[in-house]
Amino acid sequence: MCRFDRILIYRAELPDPVIISQLRIALEGIFRVAATKKGEISISSAFYNEERGQYHAGKVLDVLFALREREKDIVLCITDLDLYVPELNFVFGVASSVQGCALVSTRRLRNSFYGLPDDYEIFLRRVITEAVHEIGHVAGLPHCPNPGCVMYFSNSLADTDRKGFEFCPSCSKEVKKVICSED
Ligand SMILES: [Zn+2]
Ligand SMILES: [Zn+2]
Repeated sequence: MCRFDRILIYRAELPDPVIISQLRIALEGIFRVAATKKGEISISSAFYNEERGQYHAGKVLDVLFALREREKDIVLCITDLDLYVPELNFVFGVASSVQGCALVSTRRLRNSFYGLPDDYEIFLRRVITEAVHEIGHVAGLPHCPNPGCVMYFSNSLADTDRKGFEFCPSCSKEVKKVICSED
């Protein structure tokens, strides 16, 4: 039986909130469930690691968990804060299947982070790709060996840009078992 039937989208410290509207439409198209734009949340400075200059992603997930309104909700948050988990230098995003929550950082998805001119269309595509990837993890999907699948592990922007936001046929089948699509 499917576990999730709605996506709630929050934002935190995001300088271009207009992207949320486009992300919402994209997620509805991909997962065939209702996606709702929610408000802005603040992320506690207690989660900030001064030495790293980054926020602890796992601790933010606990905050998102509290924002679930129903058992079948997935809570997704988009933030421009730079994120880490203790074992990695940085993460584009994190997810918890048990908690039904996902978090994506836009910081390293911007060309300007690498000293290149920003490109909104490319940026939007990256945000969608990373959000779909993390929601895939919420649905319980592991990383996929297919480099063209959105569930392929992405360690760099080149990986993210190459794979795009589509599931391969086998991941698509798995995600449909867990996310209650309308068709
Ligand atoms: Zn992943
Ligand atoms: Zn796949």
